[in-house]
Formats: sequence, structure tokens, C-alpha cells
Amino acid sequence: MNLPPSRRSDVSAALATVPVDGALRLQCCVHCATVQYPPRERCGHCLADALVWQEVSGEATLLAVSALSHSLEPWFGDRLPWAVGSLRLDAGPVVFAHLAVAGAQPGARLRVANANDASGAWCLVAFEGESPDFTASLEQLGIST
Ligand SMILES: [Zn+2]
Repeated sequence: MNLPPSRRSDVSAALATVPVDGALRLQCCVHCATVQYPPRERCGHCLADALVWQEVSGEATLLAVSALSHSLEPWFGDRLPWAVGSLRLDAGPVVFAHLAVAGAQPGARLRVANANDASGAWCLVAFEGESPDFTASLEQLGIST
């Protein structure tokens, strides 16, 4: 069975262990409270190495959308076109996420949550609605909880 690529950086390994419940958990700096993304070893704002994983707002504005029409990864190749987007979180950083929203346009207000893809690797998913809709969004992407 084909699976999505599972390689991720060592520092982001903790993302695969956070609950998949419709919430978003990212690293936050203990000293200046800056929310970090992508995961890193030092704060991108003050360089402190005291980063903790905590729940942050998943509310976000969609900045750009792209639909993959070709992939060298067989798992994605079987599911094309695949929609991804960049979103500015209200919590600060810009993230990249799988889009579980058909036809979303830049400027749309979406929610971002942690998920684990079919290979068990962490990913981010953007969806519409509230947390109870999150499971349906994952099923739409072929991602199970
Ligand atoms: Zn900091």
C-alpha cells in the first residue's frame, strides 16, 4: 500500500504525539510568547531555547492556494489534484496545510489543526467550521484519526 512520505525533522517529532482533536498545538517561547512554525530549536524572535508545545488559536486567513497536479509520491499521485495552502495564523506564523475545503479562495477564514497523515507523520489541515467538523475534514483527505 502506498503511503505519504513520512520523513520529518527530529525537532518536529513531538508534533506526531500531540492529540488529533481539532485543536492546533505549536511551539511557543517561554520568554517572549512568540508562536513558532516550523518547529525549531530556538525562538525565531529572541533566540531563547525554552520552547514549549501548547495549544494556540487555529483561526487563520488563507493567503494562497495551490493544487498539485503531479506528484512523484505514489500516495499523492493516486489522489490528484491535491489542494494545499499557505495561511497566516491569528497566532502569528504562516503555515502550510492540506486544504479540506473545496474552492477556498485567498482571504477565506479557516481553521488549522494538527493531524497525522496515513503514514503516521504529522501534518496540518485547514478546514471550515468548528472542531466537530474536523473528523469529516480528515476523512475527505483520506487521513484517519
Ligand atoms: Zn522568544
